[in-house]
Amino acid sequence: MAIQWFPGHMNVTKKAILERIKDIDVVIELLDARLPGSSANPMLAEMTGTRRKLKVLNKQDLADPERTEAWLAWYSAQSDTAAIALDAGDTAPAQRLIKACRELAPNRGGMDKPLRVLICGIPNVGKSTLLNTLVGKKAAKTGDEAGVTRIEQRINLASDFYLFDTPGMLWPKILVEQSGYHLAGSGAVGRNAYDEEEVALELLHRLKGPYAQLLAARYKLTFPLADIPGAHDDALLEEIGRRRGAVMAGGRVNLQKAAEIVINDFRSAILGRITLETPPEFEAWVAEAQVR
Ligand code: GDP
Repeated sequence: MAIQWFPGHMNVTKKAILERIKDIDVVIELLDARLPGSSANPMLAEMTGTRRKLKVLNKQDLADPERTEAWLAWYSAQSDTAAIALDAGDTAPAQRLIKACRELAPNRGGMDKPLRVLICGIPNVGKSTLLNTLVGKKAAKTGDEAGVTRIEQRINLASDFYLFDTPGMLWPKILVEQSGYHLAGSGAVGRNAYDEEEVALELLHRLKGPYAQLLAARYKLTFPLADIPGAHDDALLEEIGRRRGAVMAGGRVNLQKAAEIVINDFRSAILGRITLETPPEFEAWVAEAQVR
C-alpha cells in the first residue's frame, strides 16, 4: 500500500508564499541530499515562477558524495538555478550559501536595494539548524519530529541581505509512490502515516543493488545479496533481524524490531553514506506517474 500523507494547511501556506514572493529576489529550497527529488515540494516550483533559485542539498554528510555531485550538476543545468551541498551545522559552508545568493542576483545589494531571500523546505530537512548556524545563536527551534511549528521571521544576515523564513509549513507532497517511502525512511513523514516494516522492505530493496556491500558489512551477511530474488526482500529483513538479535521467544524474528533497526541505521548513516535516488531515476518515476 502506498504511503498517504495529507497534513493539510497547504492552501494557507500557498497564499502566504504567493503574497511574500512578490518582493523576493532569490528562493532557497532546502532539500535532503539523500532524497533530493522526493524532498522537493512541486508546488513551490509553480509558486516561484521565474525567480532565481538556489537548491541547497543539506545533510550532505549523510549522503553519497558521488550522487550528490550528480544532483548538483542536474540542478545547475536548469535555468536561473544554482545548487550547493552543505551540512547545516557547519559555519563555513553556510557562508557559501550567502555567496551563492549574491551571485544569483548581482543587481541587488547595498542599503537601497537589499537582497531579499526566501528560505523554504519541508519539515525535518534541517531549516532550523541552518538558520541557527547562519544567525550564530539559537534563533529557531530544532526538532527530530516532522512538524515543529515556527513563526514567520526576517533575519538580517547583513545590512543589505534579508532572509525570510517560509510563512507557514511547506509539507511534502507525495506525487510519486517511491517518494513516499523515501520521505518516510528519512523521517520527513509523521510516524503514524506509514508502516515501518513496509518502509524498511522498500529501503532494503533500493539498497541491495548499489549499496549491497554496506548492507553486507553492517549486518555481517554471509550470503551474496544477489542470491535473494527481488520478491524476497522479506528474507533479507529476516536475516538482518536475526543478525541483530531481534529474535522472539521460540526463535522467530521480530520483523517490526528488524524494520526499526534498518530505518534507524539508514537515518543515522550507521549503514554508510547513502542517497536513495539519482536524477534519471527520479525523472523516470515522475514521467511514469504523469502517464498514469
Ligand atoms: P527543520 O524541521 O527543517 O527545521 O529541521 P531541523 O533543523 O529541526 O533538523 C531536523 C533533524 O536533522 C535534527 O535532528 C538535526 O540535527 C538534523 N540535521 C539538520 N541538518 C543536518 C545536517 O546537515 N547533517 C546532519 N547529519 N543532520 C542534520
